[in-house]
Amino acid sequence: MKPKLQLAKRTEITIETRSVMRINTIAANELFCGECGEVVVPILGWQVVCATGINKEHIESLRLRGDIHKINGAGICSASLSRYLLRVQTAPGSVT
Ligand SMILES: [Zn+2]
Repeated sequence: MKPKLQLAKRTEITIETRSVMRINTIAANELFCGECGEVVVPILGWQVVCATGINKEHIESLRLRGDIHKINGAGICSASLSRYLLRVQTAPGSVT
C-alpha cells in the first residue's frame, strides 16, 4: 500500500507591535539634541520610568550605550527614546 502524501500545514500570523505612548511633560521649551541634530522635547527621567516601566538603572545603561540621549542635565531626548522603543517593539523575538 502506498503511503498518503501529506502536505505540511502552514499558518502565518501577523502581529502589529506599534503602539502609541503619550507622555505629558512639564518641559516648557524644546531643546537641541546634539546627538540627533534636531530640536526635541526633553523628558525627565522619572517621566520615562512612569510611562515606559523602564527602571532608572536601565535608562542609564541605555544612555551610556547611546541608545537614548541625555540633554540639558537630567532631560532625556524624546526622539531617541521614541526610536529606541520602536526598535525594541518591532525587533524579532522581542517580548516587550
Ligand atoms: Zn537625541
